[in-house]
Amino acid sequence: MLETRSHIVILGAGFGGLTAANMLRKGLSAEHHIVVIDKKDYFLMGVVNLWILGGNRRLEDSKVSLSNLKNKGIEFLQDDVIQIDFHKKIVRTKLSKQIEYDYLILGLGVDFAIEQINGFTENRGFNLYDATQVPKLREKILSIKGGNIAICITDIPYKCPPAPYEASLIIDDILTQSGIRDSINVDLYTPTQIALPVAGPKISQDVVNLLNRHNINFHPLHKLKRVINEKELEFGNGDMMDYDVLIGIPPHKIPMMVANSPGLLKEGENWINVDKFTLRTNYENVFAIGDVTEIKVNQYVAIPKAGIFAEAEAKVVSQQIIDEITNNNKSQNPRFDGKGYCFMEIGGKKAGYITADFYNEAGPITKLEPPSQELYEKKIDFERSRLAEWLL
Ligand SMILES: Cc1cc2nc3c(=O)[nH]c(=O)nc-3n(C[C@H](O)[C@H](O)[C@H](O)COP(=O)(O)OP(=O)(O)OC[C@H]3O[C@@H](n4cnc5c(N)ncnc54)[C@H](O)[C@@H]3O)c2cc1C
Repeated sequence: MLETRSHIVILGAGFGGLTAANMLRKGLSAEHHIVVIDKKDYFLMGVVNLWILGGNRRLEDSKVSLSNLKNKGIEFLQDDVIQIDFHKKIVRTKLSKQIEYDYLILGLGVDFAIEQINGFTENRGFNLYDATQVPKLREKILSIKGGNIAICITDIPYKCPPAPYEASLIIDDILTQSGIRDSINVDLYTPTQIALPVAGPKISQDVVNLLNRHNINFHPLHKLKRVINEKELEFGNGDMMDYDVLIGIPPHKIPMMVANSPGLLKEGENWINVDKFTLRTNYENVFAIGDVTEIKVNQYVAIPKAGIFAEAEAKVVSQQIIDEITNNNKSQNPRFDGKGYCFMEIGGKKAGYITADFYNEAGPITKLEPPSQELYEKKIDFERSRLAEWLL
């Protein structure tokens, strides 16, 4: 059977979107049109925030232009997606374009909602997840001579669950190297009962032991309620704590345009619900991948918001589309397997390694490999290899 020309539209040039665009381009002949739409004109990997914090990287050196996609035969449109009409199979954008699709992949990530924390911005809180704020945060840490540094996980779910813990250990390292660690308290507050609910109690305890060894105070069941007078934190449990530097992991919310596209979110859902194996939504030929989705593994755990899962999901989606378009009757029936990993940086150019198998029949399995310099090098390569494949 002859292939007809297909239009594949990918919303979001992040971890998932860039994986999908590249895999589709390699798997489909040039007549099939692949377009990626993003409001930004560059890609910046989340992990870079930690390297800027640690002083190993500059923001200016870390952005890669999305216009490079055209060298790979992928069209890139810098535009804000406003709405999707699933019945007409059209994406509407801010510059009033209407883009038709045969296949649509939503990889729109999350929006931050720091405004939900009363007084955070007004009282000079730093958003660790906004790369543009991290250089100033580093300057601030280097400038203080004593006091309290507070790191607050404000809500769950948030992306890359180990990142706030990594940040606390990197800060410990900075202060130790500057010779002022003894004059500064580092406190980590989280609304959860254990450090990493997605990784389970054993790894959570390992992380808390690690924090203890570095004199980082861990405060579970502390949900930040408001920030007062550039010096005090009020928590939901009534506790009041002082701070001199406030670092927040902001509440995450679904991108506005998803909420504006009727039918995608059912009542009571905060994230897009997809089939846990195929990543299909309820609409024909519409898939959602990565942080914009919620894939429940059991009553307590969902697939974490992390690039490694966005990437794995993008590959499964792309293979399904390639198989359909090319009428591949030898298809292996691609399925997302719920497996992933991440490197947990601990300062001093060392990292541990967490692996997870969320779809394991007897329940999720997670393992932590002890930190080493070799694993840190692998973390550096994690970014390098992906940029090379996607954009360079
Ligand atoms: C500090 C930090 C460290 C991290 N470390 C790791 C790590 O070590 N390993 C790991 O696996 N993950 C890590 N992550 C998490 C990882 O960055 C995310 O989980 C991943 O980027 C999610 O991929 P995604 O494709 O779902 O969304 P994203 O990569 O966030 O991409 C979404 C894209 O959609 C675009 N977009 C949104 N709305 C619109 C709109 N209306 N119109 C047009 N474009 C739009 C955005 O501009 C964005 O480019 C880290 C994150 C942070 C913050």
